[in-house]
Amino acid sequence: MQNERIQAAVHALTCELIKQPSVTPDDQGCQQILAARLQALGFRTEQIDREGVSNLWAVRAGSGPHLMFAGHTDVVPTGPTAQWSSPPFSPTERDGYLYGRGAADMKSSLAAMIVAVEETLASNPALPGTLSFLITSDEEGEAIHGTQYAIEVLRRQGIRPDYCIVGEPSSSIQLGDVVRCGRRGSLNGVLTVHGIQGHVAYPQDADNPIHAALPALTELTQHTWDSGNAYYPPTSLQVSNIHAGTGASNVIPGQLEVHFNLRFNTEQTSAGLQQTIETLLHRHGLDFELRWHLSGPPFLTQHGVLTAAVSAAIAEHTGLSTELSTSGGTSDGRFISPWGEPGQQRVEVVELGPCNQTIHKIDEKVALSELAPLARIYQSVIERILR
Ligand SMILES: [Zn+2]
Repeated sequence: MQNERIQAAVHALTCELIKQPSVTPDDQGCQQILAARLQALGFRTEQIDREGVSNLWAVRAGSGPHLMFAGHTDVVPTGPTAQWSSPPFSPTERDGYLYGRGAADMKSSLAAMIVAVEETLASNPALPGTLSFLITSDEEGEAIHGTQYAIEVLRRQGIRPDYCIVGEPSSSIQLGDVVRCGRRGSLNGVLTVHGIQGHVAYPQDADNPIHAALPALTELTQHTWDSGNAYYPPTSLQVSNIHAGTGASNVIPGQLEVHFNLRFNTEQTSAGLQQTIETLLHRHGLDFELRWHLSGPPFLTQHGVLTAAVSAAIAEHTGLSTELSTSGGTSDGRFISPWGEPGQQRVEVVELGPCNQTIHKIDEKVALSELAPLARIYQSVIERILR
C-alpha cells in the first residue's frame, strides 16, 4: 500500500516536470512546482536567480546535522524530435519505462527526493536536523550562475551543509549498483608553438614548429603522472586537437596549436601539473605560449557517515552491495564538496540516482520499477543521517 502510494506520487511528479520543456538554462516553472511542495512541508524557500538562471534554495532548519539534496531542473536539448518514438516533453509509458527528456537526468530524482521528504515528515513530523534543497537550472549549460553562484551567496550567510546527495543518474545497470563518491579533476591546455614560416626548399631560413614540438609532445603523452590511489585511476593526458600548416605542400608553417586535456586524481594539483608541463616544454627549447582552463578540481568523499548510510539504504531496498566509484564526467558535486572556508572540512557528497544508459540520448527513459525504490532509498538515507 505504502509502496503503491509512493510509486504513484513519484510517477505523477516526474511526469509533471517532464512536461515543462526546461532546456538549459530555462527552468520553465519546474522550481515553482518543487517550491510549492516544500513550502507545504514547512520549508522556507528562496530564489537565488542570476542572468536568466533559476536557483531554488529551500530549507527546514533544526538542530543537528544538515543534509542537503542537490540537483537540476534543466535538461539538454532534445536533438531531432522526429527521431523520438514519442514527443520528448510528453511523458509516455512503454514496456515498463517512462520516456521523456529529463526522465533519468534528472527529473525522476527530483520527484523521488520530494516524495522521500514528504514521506519522512509524514511519519516523523518532529524530525531533528536540517534538511535543504539546492536546485539549479544551469547544470547542463555553462554552470557559472547556477550551483556555484548560489553556494557563494549561501556561504556568505554562514550556511553550509554537512552532507549532500546529488541526484545525478549514477546507476549503471540496476538502480543503486553504482554511487559516485568523487570525480576526477579536468584541466584543459592550449599550447601554441611558434616557429618561422618559410619555403620547404630553404629550411635553413625557417623554423619548423612541427619538428620542434614532436619530441616534446611524445614525451608529454608518454609521461607517467602517478599510479592512482585507492579511490582513483592514474592521471591521464589526452591530446584532442593538433593544427598546423597552411594547406600548401611547399610551406613550412609558422605556428602549431595543440589542445589537450588532463583527467587528474587527488595525487595531483592543477598548479603542479601546469608546472610540470611548462618545465618539460622549456627543456625542449620550444618558443611557446600556454593557456589553461581548469573545468574543475577533483573531489572525493572518503568512506564515512554518508557513504555508510547510502550503502545501507541501497542494500535495504535493492539487496545490492553498491560500488563507490569516481569515474565519469563532472557534476555540481565539484562545487559542493569544497563549500566552506579554506581549511574547513569538506562537505560529504555522493551522487545517487537512476540508471544513466539513456541520458542525453534520443528516447531518454527511466524504469518505472525504480521510481518507488529510489524514493525509499532517499528516505532511508534521511532517517539514517538525521535521526
Ligand atoms: Zn544531470
